[in-house]
Amino acid sequence: MTQKTAIVTGGNAGLGYAIAKKFCENNIKTYIIGRSVEKTEQAAKEMGVNAYPLILDVTDLERLPEVVSQIASESSSIDILVNNAGINQKKEFLDVSNEEFQNIINTNVLSVFAISREVAKVMKAQGAGTIVNISSMAAQYGLPKVIAYSASKTAIEGMTRAMAVDLAQFNIRVNCVAPGFIKTNMSSKALDSEPERKQRVLSRTPMGKLGLPEDIADAVYYLSSDQAKFTTGIVMPVDGGNCIGF
Ligand code: NDP
Repeated sequence: MTQKTAIVTGGNAGLGYAIAKKFCENNIKTYIIGRSVEKTEQAAKEMGVNAYPLILDVTDLERLPEVVSQIASESSSIDILVNNAGINQKKEFLDVSNEEFQNIINTNVLSVFAISREVAKVMKAQGAGTIVNISSMAAQYGLPKVIAYSASKTAIEGMTRAMAVDLAQFNIRVNCVAPGFIKTNMSSKALDSEPERKQRVLSRTPMGKLGLPEDIADAVYYLSSDQAKFTTGIVMPVDGGNCIGF
């Protein structure tokens, strides 16, 4: 069987790291995209022979077509794209500037559209492919102090449905995973320093605990595999029930 090829944006840290690792362990050639040379090369080294570090700022829209065609020419196909790279900003609504809002939209929305369009051209030509976007609980309900992030993740969910409809004719499936509160270095620090917030998160999570990056990787792996071959346009919360908790 020919080896599949995946692209994971933001694959050098956090959830993207777990997703890229899962792909590599399952013999998928995986391009790990990040801006930091050191972090990206180190992550690829840890993941072994199937991992290919690729230094790219996804907001550099001019470079995207060239990078995607380079990947397509050195691999037999591009089978999977995971749009995971994302940034957040926690700030009072009244203090957020237009530039700060725009910056989040550029990374979390515009670059997802632009890279997906380029990869979808390759997938259309090869007659198949699958794209997984990453949303957040910020798109499921109103979270305080994350106005631009909430707008961006809500856009991602709408875009997932629109892309699924537009691309189904080319046998390209598009789905989305909405992670709940996941235990990463960053979230542990934030929640441990705010016990009240942590208590609030846990009290509305029926399963009563934080998720692990591997829980997200498992869901992304499923949606991008043939096991999900009749599934497109969905947003799958992976959140211990957080979005349906009271
Ligand atoms: P991290 O901050 O740990 O990692 C972000 C990753 O994105 C890094 O690999 C970073 O690499 C990369 N990245 C950021 N901006 C760019 C850019 N312009 N170009 C290329 N790469 C970029 O994030 P998380 O793992 O926490 O989050 C990953 C995704 O999951 C995000 O979309 C986030 O919104 C979503 N999410 C996370 C949750 C959580 O609990 N952690 C919960 C819900 C959603 P580098 O620094 O090298 O550029």
